[in-house]
Amino acid sequence: MSDDRFTAIIVGAGPAGSTAAYLLAKEGYEVLLIEKGSAPGAKNMFGGRMYAHALNRIIPGFWEEAPVERPVVREIITFMDGGRSTSVTCRDQGWAEPPYHSFTLLRAEFDAWLAAKAEDAGAMLACNICVDDPLYENGKVVGIRAGEDEMFADVVIAADGVNSILAQKAGLAAMFSAGQVATGAKQIIELPAEEIGHRFGLEGEGGAAQLFVGDCTRRIHGGGFLYTNKRSISLGLVLNTASLGKGQIRVVDLIEDFKANPEIAPLIDGGTVAEYSAHLIPEAGLGMTPQLFSDGMLVAGDAAGFVLNLGYIVRGMDFAIASGEAAAGAVKAARQSGDFSKAGLAVYRKLLSESFVLRDLEAYRRAPEFTANPRLYGAYPEFVTSLASRLFTVDGSQPVHVLGKVWDHFRKSGLGLTDIAGDGWKGVKWL
Ligand SMILES: Cc1cc2nc3c(=O)[nH]c(=O)nc-3n(C[C@H](O)[C@H](O)[C@H](O)COP(=O)(O)OP(=O)(O)OC[C@H]3O[C@@H](n4cnc5c(N)ncnc54)[C@H](O)[C@@H]3O)c2cc1C
Repeated sequence: MSDDRFTAIIVGAGPAGSTAAYLLAKEGYEVLLIEKGSAPGAKNMFGGRMYAHALNRIIPGFWEEAPVERPVVREIITFMDGGRSTSVTCRDQGWAEPPYHSFTLLRAEFDAWLAAKAEDAGAMLACNICVDDPLYENGKVVGIRAGEDEMFADVVIAADGVNSILAQKAGLAAMFSAGQVATGAKQIIELPAEEIGHRFGLEGEGGAAQLFVGDCTRRIHGGGFLYTNKRSISLGLVLNTASLGKGQIRVVDLIEDFKANPEIAPLIDGGTVAEYSAHLIPEAGLGMTPQLFSDGMLVAGDAAGFVLNLGYIVRGMDFAIASGEAAAGAVKAARQSGDFSKAGLAVYRKLLSESFVLRDLEAYRRAPEFTANPRLYGAYPEFVTSLASRLFTVDGSQPVHVLGKVWDHFRKSGLGLTDIAGDGWKGVKWL
């Protein structure tokens, strides 16, 4: 490998960057993977679950060697309001068998493993280096500058996460607005493995994923999450950053309230907080996708805004991995044609469209609009929890059939019929 020129310089050793590096290095290309953290994963966090399909296509049976925690077999959605909560649960034991549906995992270990796969395949990994700028020659990106150092390549892949300095400095992305991103805050709470199994009704290695909506965010746009790991629980909140700013609410206070909620407190009782972290999440879908390629540059993963939040499903890891794969495919095609110009790299968009990345973002393009509806975080959780409570209450009062209770409850709720019909229609159509 030549010391001063690479086929690809990949900035960011998260799942997008390490996947691209792994696939290119495996084909014998000269790859430099640069990470600003002291190790891959050192600066990364997420809620806690990766859908397995994208990585399984690239590294079949990856769970045999990757540091995954538990295959998720139990999904729970919980509406919260005041002291009331109502949950919907789905269990599928089939998800506990290969090819697994999704895994909980911890990023420090997982990202280090994926970057090591790239290194084993022949990529050069350089940590503790923060890339400052793209380098240009005749209007084309030809490398990067990090401090005093300059490094050169046929193509640079910006896989540097949600606040992609590289894509912004290259003029491919604009700075996002507060409403386009959410702030995520999370604690890892350690508990014995058997206690986790007991508290969540889990057998063997199976895991649970639970999402919360309602007053866990004091009714602002966002929600709570809980994922079971082998010997810990990942617990946190995701809050739309603009709504958070308007409400002048401190995230740390919300987290403490959440932990004290009667729905959560018994689940984490006796646990030890081992880690606290926070990170931004791109949430505007195609509404914040930058230009994906230019002369000598590609943008992948969160840097391209590739995250899908449907409220009941959160996906970013599989998008990052698949976009890293598409970026590697585009570099291979450009190398074969000897054309790393914008025209030569345009195949990247085609590859993203052929994979699920742009297809799914397009299919759910109105999800961000739907999930911004304030009724989802206040009026509906209140309605669902109080109605459920009323259905289960026996107090000697005059009997009323279920339909009568629902109608009476609806009349008193202050919700309009057109609101419910409109929101319901959008929900089934857009999600
Ligand atoms: C609170 C929260 C909950 C989430 N929950 C889920 C979930 O449950 N499931 C799911 O699938 N997704 C989830 N996501 C989204 C998921 O984490 C991201 O989509 C995914 O990490 C994107 O991967 P990436 O490689 O594009 O970026 P990142 O993982 O952000 O990696 C970018 C890398 O680039 C490095 N870097 C940045 N700038 C520079 C620079 N200038 N020089 C060198 N290196 C640099 C960073 O240190 C980092 O290692 C969640 C995100 C958050 C914040």
